[in-house]
Amino acid sequence: MLRIAIQKSGRLTEESLELMQECGIDFGKSGGKLKATAYNFPLEFLFLRDDDIPEYVADGVADVGIIGENVIAEERSSLLQPVDIVERLGFSRCRLSLAVPKGAAYSGIQDLHGKRIATSFPNILKEFLAQHGVSAEIHEISGSVEIAPSIGLAEAICDIVSSGSTLLSNGLVEVETIFRSEAVLISRPLTADKQRIVDDLRFRIQSVGRAKKTKYIVLNAPNHALETIISLLPGMKSPTVTPLATSGWSSVHSVVPEDTFWESIGKLKEAGAEGILVVPIEKMIL
Ligand code: ATP
Ligand code: MG
Repeated sequence: MLRIAIQKSGRLTEESLELMQECGIDFGKSGGKLKATAYNFPLEFLFLRDDDIPEYVADGVADVGIIGENVIAEERSSLLQPVDIVERLGFSRCRLSLAVPKGAAYSGIQDLHGKRIATSFPNILKEFLAQHGVSAEIHEISGSVEIAPSIGLAEAICDIVSSGSTLLSNGLVEVETIFRSEAVLISRPLTADKQRIVDDLRFRIQSVGRAKKTKYIVLNAPNHALETIISLLPGMKSPTVTPLATSGWSSVHSVVPEDTFWESIGKLKEAGAEGILVVPIEKMIL
């Protein structure tokens, strides 16, 4: 049995649970409970505050955990046991940025020399400042960092940004991105039995991740256009081509990457493709 720590309630929770579901892992989470066991996978869930997860994993209370990369980067140096990122999960993307009050003179990082910077991420900030040879006073506060300049606590802040609207509404402008984060799976060193379960979990996560990045495409094409159409379809191997009942026509099946998908559709239509179906893929096993 492997123990996984997941944020109890917060920005990581919903997508962490959704990922488990997409991996085919079912469990009954009744509100407020701190523990749950999967019915169909050797996995036990612990629901915790996100800041506590790295320490619980390091201490062995949990074996693995889902956490923002910013949190593990911040806490890593204070952990007594090693904890590694074993999989990047692609959700809860955000960045850690420096921001200063709108209208403040800022031409580069050097301008922060001797200034006070409020943050909940002192270690990441310290490292960034050291790399740039800037010495500033770091004020660690645990929340509502964005109000620090307006109450006279600091001249700048370093905080999590996703859209930037919180900064804007507090009269701040983002001046440097110092760290980019997404949700990650962390693990401590494990016994062979537990490692096998993690490997299985990672295999499922990767299959789900690949599937999300691709679409299954089915289309009809006149045989004379097949060559052009096939050249436009970068499938996993080569596309499947089967004859239609109508002579001179074929059905073409392939897999296309999500990001180039709209571009491909336009070109396919131009080349003579008809009846194009685009279908989501649930899992993609290589
Ligand atoms: P807890 O109560 O568990 O301590 P918290 O308030 O510390 O929760 P959340 O705000 O739920 O934490 O954020 C959890 C993680 O989600 C952050 O560490 C970060 O990686 C990511 N995150 C934070 N803000 C955003 C955002 N605006 N958009 C996307 N991801 C974010
Ligand atoms: Mg927290």
